[in-house]
Amino acid sequence: MAYSSAFEKKLARKTTRAIVDFDLIEEGDRVMVGLSGGKDSWALIHLLEALQRRAPVKFSLIAVNVDSGYRDYKHETLARTCEQRGWDLRIEHTTIGEIIDEKLDARATPCSLCARLRRGVLYRMATEVGATKIALGHHADDFIETLLLNLFFAGTLKAMPARLVSDDRRHVVIRPLVYVSEEEAREYTERAGLPVIGCCCPVCGDLSLQRQRVKRLLLDLEREHPGVKQSMLKALGNVASRHLLDRRLNPPAELRAEVLSRVDQVSMVT
Ligand code: SF4
Repeated sequence: MAYSSAFEKKLARKTTRAIVDFDLIEEGDRVMVGLSGGKDSWALIHLLEALQRRAPVKFSLIAVNVDSGYRDYKHETLARTCEQRGWDLRIEHTTIGEIIDEKLDARATPCSLCARLRRGVLYRMATEVGATKIALGHHADDFIETLLLNLFFAGTLKAMPARLVSDDRRHVVIRPLVYVSEEEAREYTERAGLPVIGCCCPVCGDLSLQRQRVKRLLLDLEREHPGVKQSMLKALGNVASRHLLDRRLNPPAELRAEVLSRVDQVSMVT
């Protein structure tokens, strides 16, 4: 079956590459898509459906929405759209919004607490619906913005994993849009006529100053040097660990010698 457009084919190729590179979807998987109704999660479910119809690997899809409990959130629009498209959807109504209001003072950024609470609900829902994978709509821009945020403001060199096994090893979180840009996700959702639904959280859209600054920086750099973002994404898969200063990656010479001599002893025994 042909893709609906050359653009869809291009995004499907990128998503397939991510699936293969990081072993994201296997035969028989039940993939639970975290569907907020934002452009990225719509793009994700729409693309996965397009792939599902063509991929040699058989997998099923179910969408799950974690409603934070904000009064104006349009979950009826989400439900209606999924019904029209034939997408199986579960909406979990929660009081995450209230919990955040109670726990945090007005100046604190609630996003990390919110993400933890939502992640907990998603894990529980994954067990309930029998999902073997939890797919999230983070795209390439999210990866490189997170890399820069950590580099500039947290003193650590990390982005986010395309595939993450939970600490208790019961859940696998996947990010199949790692090679798809934010602009592509936006355009794909728009072309598909999917209604972008705001999450209604008071800080949503009012991104942290640091993230706004990083976004502006990337925009300026990309204007001046087209391809910068692509290079950053490539760098995430091309780490020269010996050229970093992390002593856990580069142990001192005597420790390295000890490790090597142990390896030698083991190979003589086996
Ligand atoms: S912007 Fe709002 S909904 Fe999004 S992570 Fe932050 S607190 Fe949660």
